[in-house]
Amino acid sequence: MVKVVYDEICLTHIQDYGHPERPERIVETLKKIQDKPWVEIVSSEKFSESVLLHDEEYIEYVKTFRGYMTGDTIVRSNTYELALNSVYCALTAARCKGFSLSRPPGHHAGRNFGGGFCYFNNIAIAAHELTKEGKKVLILDWDLHHGNGTENIVEGRKDIFYISLHQGWIYPGTGNLEDSRDNIIDLPMPTGAGNQTYLDAFDEIIVPAIHHFAPDFILVSHGSDAHWRDPLGSLELTSDAYGVFTQKVCEYTKNIAILLEGGYDLQALAESNCAILKALQGKDVRLTRSPSETKADVAKMKRFLKNRYEFLR
Ligand SMILES: [Zn+2]
Repeated sequence: MVKVVYDEICLTHIQDYGHPERPERIVETLKKIQDKPWVEIVSSEKFSESVLLHDEEYIEYVKTFRGYMTGDTIVRSNTYELALNSVYCALTAARCKGFSLSRPPGHHAGRNFGGGFCYFNNIAIAAHELTKEGKKVLILDWDLHHGNGTENIVEGRKDIFYISLHQGWIYPGTGNLEDSRDNIIDLPMPTGAGNQTYLDAFDEIIVPAIHHFAPDFILVSHGSDAHWRDPLGSLELTSDAYGVFTQKVCEYTKNIAILLEGGYDLQALAESNCAILKALQGKDVRLTRSPSETKADVAKMKRFLKNRYEFLR
């Protein structure tokens, strides 16, 4: 059985009318997994608020501020409770090696800032909790956007490695290839990159990085906004590609949990979530072709990274 961590309360999180990060994102996936006997939906466990890795002033701000934190991210009277619940879903998913089907997302939240629909950094907190058990954790972030918040929190850590694949030169504007250093690899993808480019990146850079770092646990920031159908991005991934990426991670370890970040086309999100669940269950996922792909030069990225990472030489 694959465990999907879900609490109904996450449907009460509302940004604003017409906002892309909406409750229907979760509902659409629930509809699709209801009839799958190999999926078990579980509630989050309760943890302590002390797990929040953020600065105290920032936590207090999320508790007390009302209004727009940034142009796209609102703070309401129930935001603190809902964001905390998403953290608990992430921690539960890490415990049960499952899929956190929760919102709000988290990877744009740094130590003392939020934004990009994020308040608390679910994945960085889950990674940190795992390191308390002596585990080395690799965070793989294949959301369309660079996880600037995650990078902000984990940079310099010896026990956490962060790899992000994202469309370059869009929000939040960080994550250039040149920013790759020590425990961080940033792989910005040009407009039009799709399945083949991503598979090259896995084979040439990501899988070697996983083997070099040798994590005890892999956490994935999953966003289906890099899907060709997504309205926010210009990348060309197909739904099944997300399942294939999951298989690649599972080939290394079964100690894996997937946390939902972005993805704003309801069909693409529900399909990609299901492809991931299939892969976690060990079912076969067939890769189709991106409908239109401008292949990016992964070899060139690797040549650049070779100067910084011995394991790529
Ligand atoms: Zn995103």
